[in-house]
Amino acid sequence: MQFRLDGSRVVFDVHEKVQAWFSTRRGGVSFPPFNTLNLSYGVGDLKPAVTENRRRMLASAGRRLEDLVMPHQVHESHIAWVDADMAGRGSEGAQPIPSTDGFLTDSREVVLGLGFADCVPIFVTDVDARAVGLLHAGWRGTAAEIQVRGVEMFRSRGIEPHDLLIGLGPAIGSCCYEVDAPVKEAVMNLVGMEPLTAVDEAHWRLNLHLANRRLLERAGVRPEHIVEAPFCTGCRRDLFFSYRVEQRMTGRMGGYICLAR
Ligand SMILES: [Zn+2]
Repeated sequence: MQFRLDGSRVVFDVHEKVQAWFSTRRGGVSFPPFNTLNLSYGVGDLKPAVTENRRRMLASAGRRLEDLVMPHQVHESHIAWVDADMAGRGSEGAQPIPSTDGFLTDSREVVLGLGFADCVPIFVTDVDARAVGLLHAGWRGTAAEIQVRGVEMFRSRGIEPHDLLIGLGPAIGSCCYEVDAPVKEAVMNLVGMEPLTAVDEAHWRLNLHLANRRLLERAGVRPEHIVEAPFCTGCRRDLFFSYRVEQRMTGRMGGYICLAR
């Protein structure tokens, strides 16, 4: 397994030239209900606490807050290309990249970061570590095929799908994720019923990892190049915040990826 728990982080060991990690809720300074490592300024937590938590997450990989780039996430499928001169945007809340749920870079100067609480973090690099990418895929992003757009953007930069290495990070599992008919229809129309299990006539359990895996495979990613983190954010409330299970008033984890310097 290439995902492993390391202190207050889940680390994705994907390539020696790439650092990829996901925060747990442990090891931060925020008070309940954001205890303790909340990384979002937008949920009602104290700003200095969030800044300190973000600083700690960057420092855990030997990086500075000034290296971080974060967008304003909107559950859609736009993906941005990030250059070195964008370092620091969104790192303390100001000037985030607008309306973006994924981004890619080939610069060693930036750390890509996204906020999560149940949605699937998709970490991407390639066998030669030429570039890295990070995507945010809840059911909307999944159904909007953000993962396919990510693959296409790597291809536009000369990196073929069969060379991509993908990690699906900690997210809500089908054990904890019940959806209604509109969501079921959207997913079914894309990938069929395989990721869906009927609960009753109007509800289904959705396996978001599996839906994203199938869409990535269809886009040309090798099945053996897709690794899934063995954690459900709903079941493991000792480790993670869960927007669904904790009735919306909770913190956010962070996913991060960068090329090692
Ligand atoms: Zn669960």
